[in-house]
Amino acid sequence: MVPKQMKAVIFEQYGDADVLKYTDFRVPTPERGEALVKVHAVSLNGYDLMARAGRYKPNKGKFPHILGGDFGGELVALGPQTVCDLPMGTRVTSWWILPCGSCEQCMAGHHNRCASDYRYLGAHEHGAYAQYVKLPANHLIPLPDTVTFEQAAAFPNAFGTAWHMLIDRGNVRAGETVLVNSASSGVSMAAIQICKLAGAYVYTTSSTDWKLERAKDLGADEVINYTNVDFVDEILKRTKKRGVDLVVEHVGGDFLEKSIRCLTRGGRVVTVGGTKSYDCKVPVNYIFHKELQIIGSNSATKHNLEVMMPLLGAGKLKTVIDRVFPLQEAADAHRYLESGKQFGKVVLRVNH
Ligand SMILES: [Zn+2]
Repeated sequence: MVPKQMKAVIFEQYGDADVLKYTDFRVPTPERGEALVKVHAVSLNGYDLMARAGRYKPNKGKFPHILGGDFGGELVALGPQTVCDLPMGTRVTSWWILPCGSCEQCMAGHHNRCASDYRYLGAHEHGAYAQYVKLPANHLIPLPDTVTFEQAAAFPNAFGTAWHMLIDRGNVRAGETVLVNSASSGVSMAAIQICKLAGAYVYTTSSTDWKLERAKDLGADEVINYTNVDFVDEILKRTKKRGVDLVVEHVGGDFLEKSIRCLTRGGRVVTVGGTKSYDCKVPVNYIFHKELQIIGSNSATKHNLEVMMPLLGAGKLKTVIDRVFPLQEAADAHRYLESGKQFGKVVLRVNH
């Protein structure tokens, strides 16, 4: 039986972590085409912090709002006349993007580029910092038995984003050299593993030696601490002035320009964000002279997640969970994520 009330973490105004409140809230009612999931774990993403601070307009600007796009849970109900071939009780995670489904880009199969009413679960619609969440039933992805709810929660955003940028957009190939910037982000940890699966040689950077040791454990071949050296000089030195074939970039600011300087002739940089800054300088002489490519990548397709799920189940891709907090301590979890001390995902456990 699904109760009428649940525990949830809500916020009623934009601000710092103090705006998050653990409270009673109504259980959402799934509409036609939607499923209701009993949540057991939900992970934090960078976009949770942005939504909390007001960089998205959650729920069409209506408060209160509930964050959380990545979760592990079980299917417990469907809306009326909803087609879903998963049995009740199926352990699931989901694809967090909520595209319109009918614009030019959606019709062409590029739902991750939706040109109209583009929304994320937990950023624009109520998410999974709660005991129950509703979402489109056809977004659900069943979990292999070997994948825990916490691992499921740590998976979609980080791995989906990394797979789409490397495999669909960056076209990484066996034998190539890849620089993965900023090893300790969720996307970078996934990117290192995906590059190794694809047969590439991986360099990665961080400002902290212990994080670089963890990156080696994930398969990075060589690591660079950029507080001690300029990573461009170091890449050029280690590749005997050749540079790398591909750079995985999401930091922005001066990192994009530096990434371009690390590329070999014909090389490419794939960018998926700008956590530091969106203001970047592009040395255009490098672009034309070396025939470089700057490639954008936006989130992931549902298919990306489905392709990876057996790899996750078989242990060929591994989620990295730094710390688990109970849902009640979501505000502390946000402060912890903002402190930058973590290596891996921060997860909230949801008890019932
Ligand atoms: Zn669309």
